[in-house]
Amino acid sequence: MATVTRAETQPSLWADEAEVAEAAKSWKPASQDCREFRHAWERYTASIAQDGSVERTLQCGRNCGTLRSETLHIIGERLVRVGSPRYSYEEGYLIPGLGRIGGEGLEVLRFIAMSREINLPRAKASRSKAAGKRAD
Ligand SMILES: [Zn+2]
Repeated sequence: MATVTRAETQPSLWADEAEVAEAAKSWKPASQDCREFRHAWERYTASIAQDGSVERTLQCGRNCGTLRSETLHIIGERLVRVGSPRYSYEEGYLIPGLGRIGGEGLEVLRFIAMSREINLPRAKASRSKAAGKRAD
């Protein structure tokens, strides 16, 4: 498992519907769910570093394989996060070149994920592009 940042693997563009549908084929169900619902963080490990800060690692409870590590400084009786969290992903979770998933891409992913659970009929597309909810 390698620690990478989104900036190393993904441009700041949005993935289109076809790109999301193709990417979803390679993701295990837990990874598809995390893409839609976000990760379900659970406490995993914590330790005091030599400089007195706390290093905490959280694991996603959906078994997508993602770990989130963060450095916390003890200030009085508070733990204050320092910097940005660092993420480690299972091989294949991040796809180089795939943009962020939002709007219609998320709707495609939701259809694919829910199709695992129930037999969704394929309805004729009735919503116009103008009614789309792309966040970009
Ligand atoms: Zn996850």
